[in-house]
Amino acid sequence: MIYIGTHSSSSRGYTDMAEQAHRIGADTFAFFTRNPRGGNAKKISEQDIKTFLTLSEKYHFGAFVAHAPYTMNPCAAKPELREFAQNMMIDDLNRLEYTPRNYYNFHPGSHVGQGIETGIAYTAAMLNTALSPEQSTIVLVETMAGKGTEIGRTFEEIREILDRVKLSDKIGVCLDTCHIWDGGYDIVHNLDAVIQKFDSIIGLNRLKAVHLNDSMNELNSHKDRHQKIGQGCIGSDALKRVVNHPAFQGLPFILETPNDEEGWAKEIAMIRSWFE
Ligand code: FE
Ligand code: FE
Ligand code: ZN
Repeated sequence: MIYIGTHSSSSRGYTDMAEQAHRIGADTFAFFTRNPRGGNAKKISEQDIKTFLTLSEKYHFGAFVAHAPYTMNPCAAKPELREFAQNMMIDDLNRLEYTPRNYYNFHPGSHVGQGIETGIAYTAAMLNTALSPEQSTIVLVETMAGKGTEIGRTFEEIREILDRVKLSDKIGVCLDTCHIWDGGYDIVHNLDAVIQKFDSIIGLNRLKAVHLNDSMNELNSHKDRHQKIGQGCIGSDALKRVVNHPAFQGLPFILETPNDEEGWAKEIAMIRSWFE
């Protein structure tokens, strides 16, 4: 069993996101904590949170997976950009405590020519400042496609980030199927071997969420262009094996496919029908 959801718009509040998720047959969801380009987050409404928590219990939702804005680059070269990323994460984590015990995933960033090692050091440093022992949210590093100077393409790089984080029980991994495929991990022909590699390098106990996406590009393209489930280079058969794999059971699966609400409802129904 897995939880399935899609990205939702946070501009209308948690209650609306829960209702939308329920409407399309989802039992989890994701949302950008603020406009993907950054900016201010929506004001928290206590009433909205209260209604949401009741709904989420009524609908038997699993944990949600909030997504940090794309503009957040914790390993930027300019100190003011790193500070901007850090402040955004601290603010997001404070706000997420209104809805305790969920996930918050972020892109580990682009080193913009400083080198992978420097990138990893900056990103880990930001985490060490932003995480606190009191928080209940688990922060998830997303596996990246390796587009441009992105760090976090290889499992080894993810491991290195995790290793440097002091509050290790506050940090985990979100595996994006499109990204690891574009990053060179052949989940179409060697799913078991890829999962084994993940386990031996990172540890499956660190895996807390999956972004389930097909890809517009070939293996190892380093591109990051998501496609609808079954319409890309990964394909339905491989993704069917992914959702049925024992290593992934119990996790929230978030679709980041190019769809509208109706398309997502169909995609969710199709994935649910894949269960053996
Ligand atoms: Fe992402
Ligand atoms: Fe993703
Ligand atoms: Zn992506």
